Amino acid sequence: MVHPQGAPMSSSGATARSTFTCPVCGFAGLTEPHVDPTGSPTYSICPCCGVHFGNDDADKTHVELRREWIEGGRAWWSQNQPPPEGWDAEEQLKVAGFKDAAPN
Ligand SMILES: [Zn+2]
Repeated sequence: MVHPQGAPMSSSGATARSTFTCPVCGFAGLTEPHVDPTGSPTYSICPCCGVHFGNDDADKTHVELRREWIEGGRAWWSQNQPPPEGWDAEEQLKVAGFKDAAPN
């Protein structure tokens, strides 16, 4: 299926905030990195895969967590934050270079 490239991020906020990519699912809209500049976990939660950094990834690798998310159906996790318009888990994984983790 072909679909148009890149839904532009229409940020309603005035200031340009940097966003970060989730190392588990590849979601590129995280408002916080999963670790701070000193390498300590920020304990943020990815709204896409629901991984709680510093907690869920303390005893599992990002690859393991990704596999679980994928095998669990690649669903959007957050109840409070809706997925971006046109969100596509498959595409997200591909863009992030995580395609290898897709079950086949
Ligand atoms: Zn994620």
